[in-house]
Amino acid sequence: MAGRPRCELCGSRPAPRLCPRCRLVRYCDASHQGADWNSIHEKICPLLIPPQPCFHSERARTHGKEQLLRRQKSIVEVAVSAAQRFLWEGKALEALPAALQALRFSARVFGWSSVQLVPVYLLLAEASTGTGNLRQASKYLSEAEWIVLQSPECPAAVQSRLHRGLGLFCIAQGNLDQALYHLSTDVYLATSAFGVDSIEVSGGYFHMANIFFRRNKVDVANSLYTEVTRLWHSWLLSSLQEHQGRLRRLRAHAEAAPWADDEEVAEDGMTEAQGEEARRVLQALLGVREKQQLPEETARVLHALAVLHYLDLDLEKRKPQPWECLEDTRKQIQIRKKTKLYNCGNV
Ligand SMILES: [Zn+2]
Ligand SMILES: [Zn+2]
Repeated sequence: MAGRPRCELCGSRPAPRLCPRCRLVRYCDASHQGADWNSIHEKICPLLIPPQPCFHSERARTHGKEQLLRRQKSIVEVAVSAAQRFLWEGKALEALPAALQALRFSARVFGWSSVQLVPVYLLLAEASTGTGNLRQASKYLSEAEWIVLQSPECPAAVQSRLHRGLGLFCIAQGNLDQALYHLSTDVYLATSAFGVDSIEVSGGYFHMANIFFRRNKVDVANSLYTEVTRLWHSWLLSSLQEHQGRLRRLRAHAEAAPWADDEEVAEDGMTEAQGEEARRVLQALLGVREKQQLPEETARVLHALAVLHYLDLDLEKRKPQPWECLEDTRKQIQIRKKTKLYNCGNV
C-alpha cells in the first residue's frame, strides 16, 4: 500500500520537499534535508538512481540484479564509514542520518535478522548515546541483542562488539557494575575469537581500567592500562616490521625491473579503524600516565604513538625513514628527562 511519502530523515512527517538531484528522496522541511545532505545524502545521492532496467534476457536480468546488489552494498559501506567518522570526530548528531541509511540498506541487502546489522545498530546506539538520547540507544541495543540471541551461529567477534556496546551504554547510564560485567564478557569473547595478545581484547580492558580508575582502585586500573599499552605497542611494532619488509620487497622489485608496472597495491596491515582506535586509546593513556608521573610507561606510550604516526604517513609521497619519525618522540622524551628509562630508538 503506497501511502503519502514520508520524510527520509525522521520518517514520521509528510514530505513535500524532493531532492532535486536523484528525485527519489523526500523531506519534511529544509532542516531535515540539510541534515541528511551533510551527513550522508551528498555521498550516496548518485548511487540511489537505479540503473536502466534490461529485460532482454535472463542473463541481462541476473546481471541487473547483481549490479543493484553491488550498489546497495557500496551504499552500506559508504554510510557506515561516514557514520563512524562523524563519531570519531565527536559529531554524534551528524552520524545519525548516515547510520540510519546504513541500517536501511543493510536490511535490504542482508535481511532484518542478519548479524550484519549488529555493528550498524551499535553505531546507531553510540550516536544516540552521544546525543543524550539514551532511550533510543537502549532500543537499538535491544535490537542488536535480539539478533544475536536468534543467531546461534553468530561469531564471537560480533558478540564481543555487542558486549562492548552494552558496556559503554551502561557507563553512560552510570551503571558501572553492569558495565564491568559486559566489558569482561567482551574481553572473554574477543580472546576466544582473536587470541590473548590481540588488540581486539584491549578495548574491553581499557574501558574496565577507566572504571577502576574512577573507583580509585588504582592498582587494578594500572595493571590493565599496562596491558593495553603492551598490546598496542607490540602490535604497532609488528605492523611496522611488516611495513618495512614490504617496502624492502618493493625496492628490490623496482631495482630488478625498473620499467615494470608496480603490481602491488600500496596497502598496509593497519585499517583506518585500527589506527583511529590506537590513537584514541594511546592519547588517553598518555594523559593518565603523565598525571601519574610514571615515566617508563609514559615513554612506552609515546613510542607507540610515534610508530603509529609513522604508519599513518603517506609513504608513497614522502617515503620517510623511521628514525626521522621517531625523532619527535625522542625529543619529547628528552624534554621530560626520561630518555634513560626507555630506549625509544631501538625499533
Ligand atoms: Zn523530517
Ligand atoms: Zn538525492
